[in-house]
Amino acid sequence: MGFKENDSKYIAGTYARFPVIITRGKGSLVYDETGKEYIDLSTGIAVNTFGIADDEWISAITEQLNRVQHTSNLYYSEPNIKLAEMLCERTGMKKVFFSNSGAEANECAIKVARKYAADKKGEDYNTIITLKNSFHGRTITTLAATGQDVFHKDFLPLTEGFCYVEANNIAELEKAVKTHKCAAIMFECVQGEGGVMPLDKEFVDEIVRLAKEFDILTVVDEVQTGNGRTGTLYCYMQYGFTPDIVSTAKGLAGGLPLGATLMGEKTQNVLGIGSHGSTFGGNPICAAAAVNILSRIDEGLLSSVREKSEYIIKELSVADGVKSVSGKGLMLGVETEKDANEIIAECMKNGLLVIKAKNKIRLLPALNIPFEQLQTAVEIIKNACKG
Ligand SMILES: *Cc1c(COP(=O)(O)O)cnc(C)c1O
Repeated sequence: MGFKENDSKYIAGTYARFPVIITRGKGSLVYDETGKEYIDLSTGIAVNTFGIADDEWISAITEQLNRVQHTSNLYYSEPNIKLAEMLCERTGMKKVFFSNSGAEANECAIKVARKYAADKKGEDYNTIITLKNSFHGRTITTLAATGQDVFHKDFLPLTEGFCYVEANNIAELEKAVKTHKCAAIMFECVQGEGGVMPLDKEFVDEIVRLAKEFDILTVVDEVQTGNGRTGTLYCYMQYGFTPDIVSTAKGLAGGLPLGATLMGEKTQNVLGIGSHGSTFGGNPICAAAAVNILSRIDEGLLSSVREKSEYIIKELSVADGVKSVSGKGLMLGVETEKDANEIIAECMKNGLLVIKAKNKIRLLPALNIPFEQLQTAVEIIKNACKG
């Protein structure tokens, strides 16, 4: 077939791919080019919220596809308005800007934060504090927001005005707030690419307290943690505060590209006509997909996400060869005695797709994965981890 050769001949070499083509699937089962079946705990990196080729989701998209596929943002769009209303009603946020990806949702968040601070406190209040080990995207500005040198190297100079503090280090945070003229503090409640590390409640409380004291905005990156992934609609809801800006993408449209930046009470009117835009942003097909996905992330689904999470944690945290399990809901990181790559390869051989986050195995099952498939997946992981 020569697909590997042609891939490396014609496609920029930015990805270390696993040696399979996923040709089709249904729900949490996928099949490669040889017909081999896998249980999928990778979901296209937390994107396929209800798995592959979900019937209801396909109907919602198909219906919209038969009406209109794209209009540009120069005209009103029904699925767009519906989705924005749903997002605001379920979060208490006030307005939404739609884009196509996580990085773009964060770009918008950064623009809103900078403009809010410039309008209110002056242009020199432009510093955005982010966390070490964070991940916010691959554009030059979201790379700057990303607190990991490995991603910066070779692309300097990046956008100015970011400073990094260690996650869960309150003293460092206070120092940064007091030594910079800040616009915002931006963070993931569970650092995903950074190794599936949840922030301490006390640290987030302190972010919120300092933000209030110094009129600094809180920007929560829910690109990976959002849309039911961590057992609540958005992860910040488990920390008991309302952010000024929330960005999300990945699972929002269940497998189609859509980003959203949600703005709260303070920030809702920062963007005016001409201050931001996107040709594809909020595309009707993607918006219709997201309306379907969001309408199905109800309390019943969320409680099943939490139950499945508890099951995985209970089984794996005491398993032979497992050092620790971290994360929330169905966004979990498993630290193993063996090298993560070895475990991933062994799982793959045995019909299970899992991915990596730093040195851990990252589990991101579809939110509706059938329990029996999850049980089988956990057994495969346990066997792979054994000494
Ligand atoms: C994946 C991710 C991004 C980037 O999203 P893209 O859609 O790849 O641009 C940003 N922030 C977090 C927390 C992510 O997990």
